[in-house]
Amino acid sequence: MMRTHTCGELRAEDIGKHVELAGWIRFSRDHGGVLFFDVADAYGTTQVVYDPEGISEGADRERLEKLFKSFGRESVISVHGVVRNRVPGTEDARNPTGQVEVMIEDSKLLNSSKPLPFEIAEQKGSLLPSEDLRLRYRYLDLRRVQMGNNLRFRHRLLSAARRALDAEGFVEIETPVLVKESPEGARSFIVPSRISPGSFYALPQSPQLYKQMLMVGGMDKYYQVARCFRDEDSRADRQPEFTQLDIEQSFVDDKDVQAVVEKILASVWRSVYGKELKTPFPRITFYDAMHRYGTDAPDTRYGLELNDVTDIVKDAKYEIFQRILGKGGRVVGVNVKAELTKATPTDESAVGRNEVDRLIEWAKSQGMGGLTWMRMTKDGLQSNIVKYFPKEVTQALEAKLGAEDGDLLLFLAGSEIAALKAGGELRRKLARDLKLTEGKDHQFVWLVGCPLFQKDSLTGQLEPFHHAFVCPTAGHIGEDEDIWAIQGMSYDLVLDGSEIGSGSVRCHDPAVQRRIFKLMGMSDEKIEREFGYFLEALGFGAPPHGGIALGVDRLVSILLGCESIREVIAFPKNKKFQSLMDGCPDTVEEARLAELQLLCLAGDEEEKNE
Ligand code: ASP
Repeated sequence: MMRTHTCGELRAEDIGKHVELAGWIRFSRDHGGVLFFDVADAYGTTQVVYDPEGISEGADRERLEKLFKSFGRESVISVHGVVRNRVPGTEDARNPTGQVEVMIEDSKLLNSSKPLPFEIAEQKGSLLPSEDLRLRYRYLDLRRVQMGNNLRFRHRLLSAARRALDAEGFVEIETPVLVKESPEGARSFIVPSRISPGSFYALPQSPQLYKQMLMVGGMDKYYQVARCFRDEDSRADRQPEFTQLDIEQSFVDDKDVQAVVEKILASVWRSVYGKELKTPFPRITFYDAMHRYGTDAPDTRYGLELNDVTDIVKDAKYEIFQRILGKGGRVVGVNVKAELTKATPTDESAVGRNEVDRLIEWAKSQGMGGLTWMRMTKDGLQSNIVKYFPKEVTQALEAKLGAEDGDLLLFLAGSEIAALKAGGELRRKLARDLKLTEGKDHQFVWLVGCPLFQKDSLTGQLEPFHHAFVCPTAGHIGEDEDIWAIQGMSYDLVLDGSEIGSGSVRCHDPAVQRRIFKLMGMSDEKIEREFGYFLEALGFGAPPHGGIALGVDRLVSILLGCESIREVIAFPKNKKFQSLMDGCPDTVEEARLAELQLLCLAGDEEEKNE
């Protein structure tokens, strides 16, 4: 046995015990010949001491002292010794083992460490090295207490979710990772087949079609902690591979799926936080989310709701608004309540003139053109432009925005979507600047009532709002229906202003599914080639079914308050989707390409450029 205890285990009750510990040397110091080592493992840190005066008679001091000299930072050692009280005044109250130390009787070097690329011990005020350096040596980064804790929290959350799903009768089923390429909104990674040259598998963007076919197969309740792959351009805080808690159920409607998710999350909450989670989560329609919060992923932990004041300000002689309204634009207002800015009535100290000027600059830097402001005083609304607003207009604005003494009213103008989105950005900025979410409980919201289709922002072509498998709310699409007005039976789960899940009731009728493919502009041949097998499956008595996928990386990172999902993934890719530790993506030898009967043009290009 290499250890009797972990490095996080010893307490005052253990004083006098002979123990064996094993771990890494995080710190060492020499106090006049008495050597102190902080030995750390996954569970904590224990101070061990070599005191030449206190060591037992038979010990080989010379060997031990020589050995200690060979101990470098992060060497891995084992220690045999006796637990004792620390000298009064040297206890460390922040460390659970901080009352005791282990007097070394004997020790062994299990493995030495090369000089470290960065400091592993978290010291007060120590700054993290660059992320690229951390990812290059991720295994060392994982030794840091914070990273270890992040991964353990993720494990606890997932195992609680598994237990809850199990209790609900869900069956964990693995679906393939080598799949047929299926357009699901993003680009798939493709994998060449050696034994069928010229043919390719794809890596799944999600197990969507397989989980639906599991329902056709009568599996009734499925889940999987599924790895998904999307070959997208690198974007802030995305990964080319990510993990979803993927769920599908037969004979359910949208409310049933939402209820199951709420039950699972409530159970996770109980197990991870020991707290009750308030369910059911509030529901908000896509229309309301856009109009009240300027986003389809609203953060409802704070107010600052948007109000469309177009009909009120149309009577003002204010040139900027007039110009935008003349082009069919809208004006959106936000009331920053005096108590949010911690201003006392008519005290401009918190969001004062300087801050308002800075907000205006910020709005311009976001391409918003500008920001109009007014402040509520005892004498009504005041600002440098209030003279262009007749009394009835300012009074109507006060009423609509609920303005009280000291409140700051901010207005954004533009096309409807631009003004709303700018309002959404402004809310986020104010919440950050005024620290409005500090100390607030997490808030889940269901986003419902989304359109089934949207226009591709570049081509203007019809594309699914979520994906092609969402069932229209009516269950079918009428011949003369206004396509843009159709809503889907979909629901997104939003946590603290980030989408962490997306799901829907699916089309189980192959005719409805085919109609959607056709509306997306697919020819019969293309439908047959890409989805023929799937439509065929739906035709063999597919039950009504629905499901959802929760983004595990994002959920965990929000709950831990991390800046990035990379903080909760053991071996993530960097922002350019490279793995710096093992150097992938990488070139492959010509012989491998030949085996696959592939020609690599990128390599030729490089040669040409040299
Ligand atoms: N397959 C969907 C996705 O990955 C989730 C779902 O509809 O269940 O976004």
